Amino acid sequence: MSTTNTRKHEVWFLTGSQGLYGQDTLDQVADQSRELAGVIDDDPGMPVGVVWKPVLTDSTGIRAVMMAANADPACVGVIAWMHTFSPAKMWIGGLDALRKPLLHLHTQSHRSIPWATIDMNFMNLNQAAHGDREFGYVQTRLGVARTTVAGHVSEPRTVERVAEWARAAQGVAAMRSLRLARFGDNMRDVAVTEGDKVEAELHFGVSVNTYAVNDLVAVVDAVDETQVDALVAEYDDTFDVAPELRPDGPRRESLRDGARIEAGLRMFLVDGGFGAFTTNFEDLGGLRQLPGLAVQRLMADGYGFGGEGDWKTSILVHTFKAAAVGSPGGTSFMEDYTYHFGPGPQRILGSHMLEVCPTITESTPTLEIHPLGIGGREDPVRLKFSAASGPGVVVGICDLGDRFRLVGNEIKVVPPDEALTALPVASAVWEPAPDLATSAECWLTAGGPHHTVLTTALSVSVVEQMADMTRTELALIGPATSTRAFQQELRWNSAYHRLAAGL
Ligand code: MN
Repeated sequence: MSTTNTRKHEVWFLTGSQGLYGQDTLDQVADQSRELAGVIDDDPGMPVGVVWKPVLTDSTGIRAVMMAANADPACVGVIAWMHTFSPAKMWIGGLDALRKPLLHLHTQSHRSIPWATIDMNFMNLNQAAHGDREFGYVQTRLGVARTTVAGHVSEPRTVERVAEWARAAQGVAAMRSLRLARFGDNMRDVAVTEGDKVEAELHFGVSVNTYAVNDLVAVVDAVDETQVDALVAEYDDTFDVAPELRPDGPRRESLRDGARIEAGLRMFLVDGGFGAFTTNFEDLGGLRQLPGLAVQRLMADGYGFGGEGDWKTSILVHTFKAAAVGSPGGTSFMEDYTYHFGPGPQRILGSHMLEVCPTITESTPTLEIHPLGIGGREDPVRLKFSAASGPGVVVGICDLGDRFRLVGNEIKVVPPDEALTALPVASAVWEPAPDLATSAECWLTAGGPHHTVLTTALSVSVVEQMADMTRTELALIGPATSTRAFQQELRWNSAYHRLAAGL
């Protein structure tokens, strides 16, 4: 049914009914639900395939399909629709067993009521209006985390909402199987990049482990020179390379060092099955440069990254990138650097020492070399660019001791007021909602970190659903946020999350 064959994952489409109606009716239910699943599957906005499953009429079958969904790595989530009336006690065992994200699709086959011809047979066949209410009750009674989408599939908004849920499910699936390699520990004395790695493995499903940076150095030093030749040739073709780094330039050897780091780092990550990593400029061992270009290139290929040992942000970067696969826009590790309080609109300039992902620009990056005051190594090569304009969101994560908290801010990425000719690193400029002062007051009140993931490839709704699917608090600052109401929300959240976690 798929219109594209590039989709790696699928969601299962489950239809609820019961045996009361007879085989003819069940056949009609099957035909209509298969057709409806096909409409969603055929939508070019769907990031995953939609796989229709036979109509479910008893608790044994429902539990079996949920267990199969749990066990199938291709399946990232389950859509359920009660076409007719499916007495919901038969769903208790299955819902209790389900470990993957659930979407309750509240819809019906027909768009319009056939006023002149409608009879009791039609009403009995098309009774999701109350069948889905029975299903909603049992989900609420069981405390099942889910997204509920109501609407006819001919309305673009309905399928768009299903696609957003599927993106979130795809991101969470990537997170649940993520292995993260840390090269060195966190930057000394920094508080917010610390966290409970045991809790992270339980809560998010991510394994976080440290490797000696000289284990990486050994791989980098063993990189074949032909690999370096191929990489620098690729850089020459892809980027606007500074004259001193070109084939006949005086600093070509530094670019080759950067390429060697990229090849070695990539090999280390591929061999270990890692999807995310961290570095720390305080612990570079025998690396000749702080990895800049290498990190930027790996992030562009979907790897998560956090600077200064920030493994929590690295998890988010990978998760967001996995959710955003195939959608326009980009996703990067980011850090709030400095403010523009005016004249003109108030803005935030974000960047990092080197490691900003080029997926957030639409221009060709320049490949440059400049001194770096920290790290105590040779001058690192790096890509420089400005982020493309558009709506986006920044999200940070902190460990409050008893739980993880996500803090998000809806933003608008804008061009810098003037070209940043003297700045030697890539950057993004944005206007935070609702305004800079309210945004910053709320962010600080929530204890949000200075590192974030910035994305222009995901809607806020996807971020919210990823938080819900992992039962993680999300304190979101948006156009309607006020400092006082946000403070109160944090207080209520604290009570809620402590109670929800159990006593
Ligand atoms: Mn930093």
